[in-house]
Amino acid sequence: MDKNQSIKDYNEKIKRIIVSEDEIKEAIKQAGEKINASYDGRPILLVSILKGSFVFLADLCRAISVPCEIGFMCAKSYYEGTVSTGIVKITMDLDRDISKYHVIIVEDIVDTGRTLNDIVKLLKARNPLSLKVVTLLDKPDRRLVDFEADMALFTIPDLFVIGYGLDCGEKYRNLPYIAEYDECDKK
Ligand code: 5GP
Repeated sequence: MDKNQSIKDYNEKIKRIIVSEDEIKEAIKQAGEKINASYDGRPILLVSILKGSFVFLADLCRAISVPCEIGFMCAKSYYEGTVSTGIVKITMDLDRDISKYHVIIVEDIVDTGRTLNDIVKLLKARNPLSLKVVTLLDKPDRRLVDFEADMALFTIPDLFVIGYGLDCGEKYRNLPYIAEYDECDKK
């Protein structure tokens, strides 16, 4: 396939914008203000669940003006195409003891809820001072386990979305907005 055709195919998969850059910016500003007000100088550890939350984490941590530290965990949810298989693996763990921190898990999207359900159980067992979950997106229609984030910036319908950290086959993470991925094969 020539270069122009593959760029055209790439762009054609971006069906429509679901959450714009401006909407994301405003929601993150408000989330940062809520965190500043609720934690009031207590030791915060933001735990970013890689890879999808790296863009959200980068903007959220800069909307927080009280002292906070950053940690990373890598969880891989196994998909068949765009459908979750329900298999979640922790492929990289935190590098520190969390018992002296108020932990805020930073996630890109809650879909079936399985990933966060597992991660919350794992981290609670390590006795943090407190533990909350902030997610950029929530797809409540898809939930398969009883899990709710403490803060969800946007609730979206049952669509497969890309951009702002979220991928399809590792691509599209760099889009500055959230878009619906076009799953129809037009060829
Ligand atoms: P859950 O365990 O809640 O089903 O899935 C969580 C993970 O699945 C997310 O962190 C994300 O990596 C992936 N995921 C769920 N829904 C979507 C989606 O609409 N688009 C993308 N790109 N990933 C998704």
